[in-house]
Amino acid sequence: MDIAQLSDRILNADRRALARAITLVESARADHRAQADELLSSLNKSGRQALRIGMSGTPGVGKSTFIETFGMMLVGKGLRVAVLAVDPSSARSGGSILGDKTRMERLSREPAAFIRPSPSQTHLGGVARRTRDAVALCEAAGYDVVLIETVGVGQSETVVSELSDLFMLLLAPAGGDELQGVKRGIMEIADMILVNKADGDLKSTATRTCADYAGALRLLRKRPQDPEGFPKALTVSAVEATGLDTAWAEIQALAEWRRQSGHWDRNRAAQAQYWFAEEVRQALLARLDTPWAKSRMTELSAEVAKGVQTPQAAARDLLTGLGVTNR
Ligand code: GDP
Repeated sequence: MDIAQLSDRILNADRRALARAITLVESARADHRAQADELLSSLNKSGRQALRIGMSGTPGVGKSTFIETFGMMLVGKGLRVAVLAVDPSSARSGGSILGDKTRMERLSREPAAFIRPSPSQTHLGGVARRTRDAVALCEAAGYDVVLIETVGVGQSETVVSELSDLFMLLLAPAGGDELQGVKRGIMEIADMILVNKADGDLKSTATRTCADYAGALRLLRKRPQDPEGFPKALTVSAVEATGLDTAWAEIQALAEWRRQSGHWDRNRAAQAQYWFAEEVRQALLARLDTPWAKSRMTELSAEVAKGVQTPQAAARDLLTGLGVTNR
């Protein structure tokens, strides 16, 4: 594969080249990894930045409906929109596939939109790293907004917030008890809570739910990355496309404030450091994932069980065998 040519085509916003490049960065093959690294390093020089919006919500809350309507609105404003997904569930049973084009039919037909489902890797760490590469490729291809969708389970929200400039939580209208269902950690990373389905019979419940969350958000300590009034709770209806303009105006206001205050650059720098450390960790873990390491581990493990070796000595033995030594 001609990496220089692929790089040029991506910089020229060629969607097929972008799709091909994402397939390349998702590949585990060593030669593909080397090409992917070369491509990413070359594109890194473009300096292009998109507004990266992380978005989470439990299945059924209306994520795909929201992305479809919100994405169409942005395209209508002349913006180019990419949709990526971080789906940690290896089984993918039950809920629908994140970032699936059939869930966003109108948006997927838009020339100014690009939709890509989650890479199918079993570990969240692997999914997240490849998604980070995909984000970088979309930025180089000149997308204005990159939406990164995930489900509200486990660690995936934390990981997506490390990929995003701002993070939105989509919720459904619900009774007061439900408020406790949102973990505190998620409330702390959310820059905006959108209570969806604020239409028809659900409208008054949505308004009440929104007020409850606004109250809960006010109880959180003001964060240095926030201007007055953030994090914010708003009601929207993805089906009726109401509240989306307001949400977009708030997103832009927050992004602009962060750019002016220097938080934007600091956050991106901290994220780059996070992913550097993550690459090192993953590369070290991958060293354990070879036939030699696995069988040596089994042998040493048996010796530890018998008391022939201490756990520490056995660990040192294995690490030395891997060429990893402590200084
Ligand atoms: P996801 O699993 O989070 O992607 O949710 P979907 O977008 O598939 O939506 C789940 C269900 O909620 C579907 O039946 C949608 O039609 C419905 N839904 C989504 N957004 C709205 C909304 O704004 N109002 C109403 N009333 N229903 C909605």
